[in-house]
Amino acid sequence: MDVYEGPVQALIDELGRLPGVGPKSAQRIAYYLLKAAPEDANRLAAAISEAKASVSWCRRCFNIAQGELCRFCRDERRDPTVLCVVEEPRDIVAVERTHEFRGRYHVLQGAISPIEGIGPEQLRVQELVRRIGDEEVQEVILATNPNIEGEATAMYLARLLKPIGVTVTRLASGLPVGGDLEYADEVTLGRALEGRREVDA
Ligand SMILES: [Zn+2]
Repeated sequence: MDVYEGPVQALIDELGRLPGVGPKSAQRIAYYLLKAAPEDANRLAAAISEAKASVSWCRRCFNIAQGELCRFCRDERRDPTVLCVVEEPRDIVAVERTHEFRGRYHVLQGAISPIEGIGPEQLRVQELVRRIGDEEVQEVILATNPNIEGEATAMYLARLLKPIGVTVTRLASGLPVGGDLEYADEVTLGRALEGRREVDA
C-alpha cells in the first residue's frame, strides 16, 4: 500500500522509475524537491521539458542530436569508412575522451539481454546493416560493454556483419571485465581501441 497520497506518491513513483534510483532514493529526492525553493524545483522541471522537446535521436547513428543529425554525423572531417558501434550515447563520450578515434558512430540503444527480453529486433541493428550497405563502411569496431550482454551483442553482430564483407573488429582485452565502457579510463580504453582485433565468427 502506498504511504503517500496523490501528487507526492506520483512524484515518488516517477522518480523510482529512473535508472539507479531505488524506492528509498526516490523518497529522499521527493522530500528534497518538496523542501526546495519553488524556482529550483521548477528549473529542474523546465530542464526536463526543454531537453525532451529539443533533443531527439540522430536519424543516421541514433546518438542524441539537436536537429536531424548529431554533431559527429555532421562533421565532414570524420572518417566515414570506420564505424564504432556502441550501446548508448554515453559510450561515445568515453570513446571521444581517448582522442584515438576519428571515424563515425552507431548507437544500438541497448544490448542483447534475454533476461530483460531484449533481442536484436529491439536494438538499432537493422539500421546498422542498412548503413553498411548505403555508406562507404569498411571496418566496424564492436565497442559494446565488456560484460555478458555486451559480449553476446558483439558475437551476434560479428556473425551478422562478416558475411556482408566488412572487417569486424572488437576492442582488445584489458578493459575491466563486467563493467561499462564509460567507467574505463581513457588510457585503457584508448589502448583497447588501438589494439583492436579482427573477430572470427
Ligand atoms: Zn549521428
